[in-house]
Amino acid sequence: NHTILLNNRPAGKPQLSDFALITEEQPQIQSGEILLRTSYVSVDPYLRGRMSDAKSYVPPFELNKPISSGIIAEVMESNNADFSKGDYVSGMLEWKEFQKSNGTGLTKVDTTSIPQSAYLGVLGMTGLTAYLGLTEIGKPQKGETIVVSGAAGAVGSIVGQIAKILGCRVVGIAGTDEKVEMLKSEFGFDAAINYNTTTNMTEAIAAACPDGVDVYFDNVGGEISDAVLFNINKFARMIICGAISVYNETSIPQSISVQPFLVKNSALMQGFIVSNYATKFPEAVKQLATWLQEGKLTYTETVVEGFDQIPQAFIDLFEGKNKGKMVVKI
Ligand code: NDP
Repeated sequence: NHTILLNNRPAGKPQLSDFALITEEQPQIQSGEILLRTSYVSVDPYLRGRMSDAKSYVPPFELNKPISSGIIAEVMESNNADFSKGDYVSGMLEWKEFQKSNGTGLTKVDTTSIPQSAYLGVLGMTGLTAYLGLTEIGKPQKGETIVVSGAAGAVGSIVGQIAKILGCRVVGIAGTDEKVEMLKSEFGFDAAINYNTTTNMTEAIAAACPDGVDVYFDNVGGEISDAVLFNINKFARMIICGAISVYNETSIPQSISVQPFLVKNSALMQGFIVSNYATKFPEAVKQLATWLQEGKLTYTETVVEGFDQIPQAFIDLFEGKNKGKMVVKI
């Protein structure tokens, strides 16, 4: 039974040496407990924040303790009346091949008609983030223009498609030509920009958004977001969902001053944390599942295989190696 521990707090970009793979005894379950075998592990950019000891909205991981993230697991043995052998559950679990639980915080998932990994992506945390961030803060109206950064990732690819369903013009920003092509051909974006090959992002956004930007869904922060600010319309709404471009910075990054842009445009900029909207999760999942069934929404994922590959898959998020949701199949 393998476990992955946080070995060091990463300085800058995470390294494999920041993680330790250890072997442990298989756990024995007591009354009220279940034995779980991990089948899919979600790796997410926000875990980088938990690897540092800076104050944040979730407590930091402890050194030399297992890392945890969204996991799908199979119930192998059960001494708990709420779970049967063969059930699949989703929840925040530890990076272990086998672990026991008393069932708290676990949700049974139906894997007969929906692939397990979808519960970590489009019907899980990232799908909820896309839907709730966009609808609760962005409030896109038909005919408006929306720009999404990190557009080819788990959250961004769903944001763009939802905005299309709601009748918007959608422009995505991503890091490779292949991703740009995918956004347009597979996900129906109206335009997409490769920030790595574009010399003047402000001009490129202006060209892709002839009527300006009404809603900006920000997954990356930094210079890309500065360029969007120059293009916002009056009453623009900006959902600050993530800032992956600065997660590995070791000093506070320099940025332009946002206040004049907000004042001049009577614009709204609001930070978003999906867990603040927990009461809306059932309604949001229902809507996402309906769109999936109707074929209005689709998703892609990058599936890495092997328990020992979890740290590398996590590191690869910062290299843009994923398209859609990055998951590890065990
Ligand atoms: P993604 O699937 O989008 O994976 C990360 C992507 O970020 C990479 O594929 C890469 O794509 C891009 N990226 C990496 N480094 C940079 C950089 N320096 N500049 C610009 N882009 C970069 O991850 P998620 O969809 O899971 O998460 C997206 C964002 O949303 C993250 O910032 C995350 O922290 C945040 N988030 C916030 C939540 C909340 O509740 N607030 C919940 C879930 C996610 P590319 O090739 O295009 O560079």
